[in-house]
Amino acid sequence: MTRTGRCLCGDVSYELSGDPIATVVCHCDHCQRQSGGAFSLNMVAHESQLSIDGTLQTYVETGENDDGTYVNRKFCGTCGSPIVSELVATEGVVAVKVGTLDDRSDIAPAAEVWCVDKQPWVELASIQMSMDRE
Ligand SMILES: [Zn+2]
Ligand SMILES: [Zn+2]
Repeated sequence: MTRTGRCLCGDVSYELSGDPIATVVCHCDHCQRQSGGAFSLNMVAHESQLSIDGTLQTYVETGENDDGTYVNRKFCGTCGSPIVSELVATEGVVAVKVGTLDDRSDIAPAAEVWCVDKQPWVELASIQMSMDRE
């Protein structure tokens, strides 16, 4: 199926085609800061499944990862909505921010990562797999 999404102001819209690889909650400190929420909800997919209409700005996050991996966080330059992150360690794989999809009512996460940074009050009913790190 093809899903559509957009940023808050509408300058950037996108289509995500086919089935995602996984839907994953990330509890990492950086996702909390970028989203302003307690965690990020991501649809992980191949870059080729995503087509973007509009111009995204990129924040290259080198972060605190000891192994040197980093993430390109792409967002709308007008309204600041985070749209997608490129996972540089796994080339060609992107994480689309589920909160920007037009219909996200049927999307429940199956896995959560970076549980080391998870807020103590967060309990997610659908989770099947939890990992301390990515
Ligand atoms: Zn926008
Ligand atoms: Zn994260």
